[in-house]
Amino acid sequence: MDWSRELIRNEFLETANRRAWQAEILGDLMAFATTQVPWYRRQFRQLGIDGKDIQCVEDLAQLPVLTREELQANGDQLLAEGLPDGHRIDRKVSTSGSTGQPVEVWHSEHSIMMVGIMTQRELRWQRFDPAGTLAMIRSLHELENPHDKQTQPLDHSYHYPRWFNVGNHFQTGPGIGFADTNPVDKQVAWLDRLDPDYLIAQATRLEQLALAYQHHAPPASLRALRAYAQQLTPQMQERIETVFGVPVYQSYALNEAGPVAGQCREGGRLHVHMENCLVEVLNANDKPCGPGEIGRIIVTPLANAAMPLIRYDTGDLGELAVGPCPCGRTLPAFTAIHGRYRRLALQPRDSWAYWIAIQRALSPSLIAAELLAPIRQYQLHQYRNQSYELRIRASETLSDAFHHHIRKFWEQATGEPTHPLAIVQMDEIPWGRALKFENFTSDFVPPPDNEPLTRS
Ligand SMILES: [Zn+2]
Repeated sequence: MDWSRELIRNEFLETANRRAWQAEILGDLMAFATTQVPWYRRQFRQLGIDGKDIQCVEDLAQLPVLTREELQANGDQLLAEGLPDGHRIDRKVSTSGSTGQPVEVWHSEHSIMMVGIMTQRELRWQRFDPAGTLAMIRSLHELENPHDKQTQPLDHSYHYPRWFNVGNHFQTGPGIGFADTNPVDKQVAWLDRLDPDYLIAQATRLEQLALAYQHHAPPASLRALRAYAQQLTPQMQERIETVFGVPVYQSYALNEAGPVAGQCREGGRLHVHMENCLVEVLNANDKPCGPGEIGRIIVTPLANAAMPLIRYDTGDLGELAVGPCPCGRTLPAFTAIHGRYRRLALQPRDSWAYWIAIQRALSPSLIAAELLAPIRQYQLHQYRNQSYELRIRASETLSDAFHHHIRKFWEQATGEPTHPLAIVQMDEIPWGRALKFENFTSDFVPPPDNEPLTRS
């Protein structure tokens, strides 16, 4: 099959043609789930639904949403008893929930292949030159070869002939990796030596690099950045792009479903990979959200026969775009993914506003350069009694002017003195149990537990 031609055709389909395409895929999925998946066989029977009744995205509303807890408890029932011709099981992808049972999803070879194909599509949208050198600042376990018995020093450079995932299917330049547990100044020195074309790192890592690069120019060779794992807020994006002088792109992927959406260059929207999943955004009444309404993101993966999930509740919040995108692509798209880690529902309602107040206070356009200059890392923490602590690592003692600046934005956001903020300077900001650094932590939220699907 000529993949690239089909993918490009799909990106510009008329709505009616897309719906016809989806109806066909959905029909196949329902027939397969009915015959091969015990969980759905029983569920359809109990609901009195024939798989043939589900013919379009709207019909999916007849089926209940599959929760993360149901997936955790019923993995064996969701596993397909048999696979279509030519499909094979590839691997189990586990999301290590630090608060309890992990979520485990078996993926087929086809499903894993989609990670490489969809990532390549995103890189095409973002005009990456695949012949370039990709620097990767990632967690050690993602960089290490599991078969390599020899332990390398922490500041080891890991060399790969190709980029992760994409390089399994396409010719690419080399990838070079460095552990994100190295101190930021070591990461800076490593990047300066490397002169890479592109850099991928967790969103908060890119932000810390941007803070560190305030004082000397980042590598002139860099052409674009990719952020993964955490939500990239508009303020983080501004901070990063101001310092690096190149665009930063984000993608939205899940261990359970693979790549869901990637950002186009022209409109900045996150377009859904229609070949890999169907997306619904639902409000509190489980109805589709209207324009501009933020709701729960529900995905139905389409490429994983090993363990079909129908209407899986991601726990993430998002907002679907309306009207045409400047890039001309007709794929459904998000204007934003909010609350990348199932947290908003657990936190008191106004928490997000305080977080945004801190984000705004540190926006390059709203803070004096000399106040931002010493800042190396920050983290806002919310305590159970709804007091907050802004933890700062800085190269010098924070000035009174800095304290005053932060308080001004805080008071504007809170409007009342009931949510006190302490500003604390620290030599090291604690990491918690997660594999990634979070710049907004809360005692209302268990440690974040989603990791990238595979090495993207
Ligand atoms: Zn677009």
